[in-house]
Amino acid sequence: MSLNIQYEGFQTKAVHVGEEPDFREGATGDVVVPIHLSTTFARQKVAIPTAGYEYVRTQNPTRKALEVKLASLENAKYGLAFSCGLAAETTVLLSLLNPGNHIIAFDDLYGGTKRLFDKIFIKLGFEVSYVDATDSSRVAEAIKPATKLVWIETPSNPLLKVSDIKAIANITRQHGLILAVDNTFLSPYFQKPLDLGADIVVHSSTKYIGGHSDVLGGVVMFNDDNFHERLQYHQNAIGAVISPFDSYLTLRGVKTLALRMEQHQKNALDIAHYLEQHPKVSKVIYPGLKSHPQYNLLRLQTTGYGGVLSFEIKGTIADAERFLESLKIFALAESLGGVESLIELPSVMTHASVDKEVREKIGITDTLIRMSVGVEDVKDLISDMKQAFEQIKIL
Ligand SMILES: *Cc1c(COP(=O)(O)O)cnc(C)c1O
Repeated sequence: MSLNIQYEGFQTKAVHVGEEPDFREGATGDVVVPIHLSTTFARQKVAIPTAGYEYVRTQNPTRKALEVKLASLENAKYGLAFSCGLAAETTVLLSLLNPGNHIIAFDDLYGGTKRLFDKIFIKLGFEVSYVDATDSSRVAEAIKPATKLVWIETPSNPLLKVSDIKAIANITRQHGLILAVDNTFLSPYFQKPLDLGADIVVHSSTKYIGGHSDVLGGVVMFNDDNFHERLQYHQNAIGAVISPFDSYLTLRGVKTLALRMEQHQKNALDIAHYLEQHPKVSKVIYPGLKSHPQYNLLRLQTTGYGGVLSFEIKGTIADAERFLESLKIFALAESLGGVESLIELPSVMTHASVDKEVREKIGITDTLIRMSVGVEDVKDLISDMKQAFEQIKIL
């Protein structure tokens, strides 16, 4: 593979990088990288692994193709693929930090990341402070001598708060800290945190990168050679790697990332406008609306707004539940980023583990609904919502 072709465009890279046909003697010129299931690789000389491959946990050609492709999409020098987003996060933390180190994290993080910090890493002797990272000065104020890493997610989940990656990167650089950005919500198609000064990008490729709600995975991308040595060592030593088959499914999914993101966004914007004027809706949160508090910042640091939006129904939690249970096309389900539209009630589903007081304080009310808009025909999605709204009594 790796013929050293330099591709320019995002879609060209998404289709071709890592999967260039192999024309060497005996090779067959596949235009799709094969699923290499072999767990071990034979060699002819004791000290020379064939093409660098030894054992599947350490490296595998299908996973390698995925890592190379995803790194190119994120404008990164290196990419490493894991069994899921949380495995990727765990490996980053164990590779780069030591017990006693202090982490500054955004207070509106993916619930699983917060649980990883609070229930696992704090027990191991790490310290974590949560701040509202939409105000970069809060990040600077939280720095202590033991601080090593800042962890943000932008836009955040489910409130779609946006933090200023460049401004935070300036702070972390001045203090010699590592800035990690979870880029799951916008995907590299709309946002490239490394170009804005972040040191590490993490994704749950289970979401938009895979894109079809059928494969679990996680990726870490970065440019630093020293990080590469440490992360690759820990990836092999810890072993939470993505399988060859899941690498193939993710490769297959990511080829249409750009097409899907455009359609997710188009549909999401139409739905946001529909909801904004709806008498039974009190609030719509979507980064593509001018009413979003960080609309201008977002326009500077991204090329799009994504396909996730949240809104609040006027009424009680029972009204919200009736609305959700009446939908026919939207699947009432956790997760996001697939071709099918998903909808959920964070206070009862994804964010049930967050204390009610904390939830209310940051804005996750009982009737806040989060939607991952799929790529269906938007008029069908709006008709579905219309009939579900009719099930709620006039207030
Ligand atoms: C889903 C998700 C994760 C965790 O990824 P898994 O693949 O489920 O382990 C991390 N961050 C964000 C923003 C997510 O949406």
